[in-house]
Amino acid sequence: MAKIAVKKVDEFYSEAERKIIKSKYRDILKMAKPYLQGDDLKQIRKAFDISMDAHKEMRRKSGEPYIYHPLDVAMICVEEIGLGPTAIVCALLHDVVEDTELTLDDIEGQFGPKVAKIIDGLTKIAENFEQSQSAQAENFRKMLLTLSEDVRVILIKLADRLHNMRTLQSMARNSQLKIAHETIYIYAPLAHRLGLYQIKSELEDLYLKYNEPEAYAEIAKKLKSRKKKREEFINTFMEPISKRLKAANIDFYIKGRPKHIYSIWNKIRKQNTSFENIYDLFAIRIILKDISPTANDREKAACWLAYSIVTDEYKPNPDRLKDWISTPRSNGYESLHTTVMSHTGVWVEVQIRTERMDEVAERGYAAHWKYKGADTSLNKPLDQWINQVRETLESKDNSAMEFLEDFRGNLYNEDVFVFSPKGDLKVLRKGATVLDFAYEIHTEIGSKCTAGKLNGHLVPISHVLANGDQLEILTTKTQKPSEDWLRFVVTSKAKARIKDALKEENKVYIGDGKDIITKKLKILGLENNLETLNQLRAYFNKKDYNDLYYFFGKGYIQPDEIRRFKQERESHENKRKKADLKDEAYKNAKNFERAVKKNNGEDSLLIGDDLQVLDYTLSKCCSPIPGDDVFGFLTVNEGIKVHRTSCPNSQQLLTTYGNRVIKARWSSQMEKAHLATIHMKGIDRMGIIQDISTIISEELHINMRGVNVNTDGGVFEGQIKVFVFDTKHLDKLIKKLGKIKGVDNVSRIRNEAA
Ligand code: MN
Repeated sequence: MAKIAVKKVDEFYSEAERKIIKSKYRDILKMAKPYLQGDDLKQIRKAFDISMDAHKEMRRKSGEPYIYHPLDVAMICVEEIGLGPTAIVCALLHDVVEDTELTLDDIEGQFGPKVAKIIDGLTKIAENFEQSQSAQAENFRKMLLTLSEDVRVILIKLADRLHNMRTLQSMARNSQLKIAHETIYIYAPLAHRLGLYQIKSELEDLYLKYNEPEAYAEIAKKLKSRKKKREEFINTFMEPISKRLKAANIDFYIKGRPKHIYSIWNKIRKQNTSFENIYDLFAIRIILKDISPTANDREKAACWLAYSIVTDEYKPNPDRLKDWISTPRSNGYESLHTTVMSHTGVWVEVQIRTERMDEVAERGYAAHWKYKGADTSLNKPLDQWINQVRETLESKDNSAMEFLEDFRGNLYNEDVFVFSPKGDLKVLRKGATVLDFAYEIHTEIGSKCTAGKLNGHLVPISHVLANGDQLEILTTKTQKPSEDWLRFVVTSKAKARIKDALKEENKVYIGDGKDIITKKLKILGLENNLETLNQLRAYFNKKDYNDLYYFFGKGYIQPDEIRRFKQERESHENKRKKADLKDEAYKNAKNFERAVKKNNGEDSLLIGDDLQVLDYTLSKCCSPIPGDDVFGFLTVNEGIKVHRTSCPNSQQLLTTYGNRVIKARWSSQMEKAHLATIHMKGIDRMGIIQDISTIISEELHINMRGVNVNTDGGVFEGQIKVFVFDTKHLDKLIKKLGKIKGVDNVSRIRNEAA
C-alpha cells in the first residue's frame, strides 16, 4: 500500500507566518498569566492545537492564515475585556464547529460541558446561502438565549465582531456594508448595555469609517489638527485644580481624551451644526488613586471631596450635575459629572471617579467580576438587566424579528428609578409607565392593573414615570390585558407578557369566530369549503383565516355581513356571465400598453404631469404624497390606483397580482410640491367637509395633510394643509373651493414655512 504523506500543521505556513502565530500565542499567555490556575495552561494549549489543526487549510480574505483570527479574538478577550482562561479556550475554538467537521460533542468530550455550551452559543444556526433577515434575527436570539446562562458568550461574540470590524478592509464592499450595519444595529448597543465603553466606541467609529468614509476622515483630521491646542487648554485648566487637590493630599491622574468620532458626527447631525460649533468635544477626567474599593463610602466621599475642590475654583452649571455614584446606571457605570465655566469662558465637562470606577466604565462587565468578590452589591443593576433579558427570552411564541425589535428597543436608553410603597427601588427604562412597573413586580399584578397611586394621586396605567416616583399599583380581579396596552408600554418584559396573554385570548375569539361563520354559511346555504373561506378572507381583506375568524369572534364584523358578501358575489357572477367580459384588468393592461406608446415610450405613470394620458387616482388606504415611493395598480373596476410601496396592502398586491403593477413616479413639478395652508370661512351645513375633501383629493389629485375646522353658532372656520406644486395649481384649488355651497371666503395663509 502506498504511504500517504501527511503534511504537518506547520508546513501550511511560511517561516514568517509561523513566527507571527507563535508570538501571538505567547502574548496571550503572558497577558493571562495572573489568572491561570491548575491545568488551565494545558487546556489552552489543547484548544490552540485543535484550532491550528482545524483551520490549517483556511485563509482569510486578506490572504493571512485564518488562525490569526481566533488568536486575535482570544487576545481581545483577555487584554481588552479582562476575561480569563475559559474565555481564551472558547475564543480559540469559536469558529471550529461552524467551519470544520468537529462537532459540539467532540468539544464536550475534550473540554467539558461548560466550554461546549459557550461554543454552541457562538455557533451560528444553519442557514441558506441567501441569509434572510429572520435567520439573522434567529441567530441573535440564539446568542442572547445563552446570555442568561453565561454572559461570556456575548463578550466573546463582541470580541469576534470587533476583530472582524478591525480587519474589514479586505472584504468586498457589499460585505463591508452588511457587517458594518449589523454592528451598529445590534453589537454596538449591546456593548453599550454591557458597559463596554471602549469597545462600543471603537465599533461605532469603525462603522462610520466604512459607512461614511468621507465624514469620518474629515472629523479625524480636524481632531488631529487641534490636538496640541486641546492639550494646552487642559493643562492651563487643570493647573489650579491640581494644586488644590495636591494640597488636600489626594492622589490622582488626569485623562483628557476627546469624544469618539462617531459621537461627534452624531452630534453634528442631530444638532444640525458644524464641528467648529461643538463645545464639548472632550471631557476632563480626574481619576482618584488608591481608594480601597471595599470601602464603598470612602470612594463616594473621596469623589465628592474632589468635586468640592473643582467647584471651588470653577463655577458649576447646576443643571449639568450628574451623580452616578449614589445610583449607578443600569450598565454599572459609576461617575460624578459636572460642567464648569473655565476662566477663558468655555464650559468644560469634568468627570470624577476612582480607579475602580474607571476600569468598570471602560471595560464593563468583566471588570465588575473582578471586584465582585469584594462587594456583591456593586453589580446589582447589571444583574437586574440580565434577569430582564432572561425573562424576555422566556416568552414563548414571539417571532425572532419581533423579539429582536423589542430587545433592541431596550438596549439604548437611559433609566428611570422608581420606588415601591415599601421603598424598594426598581430600575426601568426611560418612558416606562405605571403598567410597566406593575409587570416589573409580577405578571399577575401587571395583567390585573387598573391604575396607579403616585404620591397619593390616582394616575392612569399609561402614566409615564419620573425619577424618584413612589408608586402603588391598584388592581381589580376583572381586569385583563388588551391590545391597547401595547401602545404605551415600553419594557420588553411587559410587551412580551401582554402579547402572551393576548395570544391566549385570541385563541378563544378565533374559536368563536369559526363557529359563527360555520353557522351563518349553513343558514345562507353556502358551501363551507376552502374556496368560500378564501373568498370571504379576500372580501373582508384579512391576511389569513385566523384573522378572519378573529374579527367575527370579536364582533368587529357582524355575521349578517356574510349575507352582503353572498349578494355581491352573486351579482358579480351574473354580470360576468351576461357581459362575458374579458378580464377588465387585462383590458386595462392593453390600454396601458397603448398609452405607453402614446406616452413617447415612457413606461411609467407620471403623477402630476398635465400631459399624462393615463387616468389614475391616489389610493385612500395610504394617501401617497409627493416624494413617497409609489406604484400604480390596475384595479378591475376603478382604473389605476396609486399606492405607497409601504402601504399595508401593497405587499399582497405586489406578490399576488404582480402583472397588474405599473411603475409610477412623481413628475418633477410634483416632486417639488410644497405645503400650503388654506384658510376657509363659511356657513356650516351637513357634508361640507366631505365636499371640500372630494374636490381636493379626487378632482385635483392634491393631497391633504391636515384639516382643522371649528364650528361656532352655524359658522365654520378652519385651516387645511395641502400639497401643491405651484401657485397656478393653488389658485385653481381656491377657485373651486370658493364655489362650494356655503363657503364664503377662501384664502391662502402666506407665512407658511415649508
Ligand atoms: Mn470568528
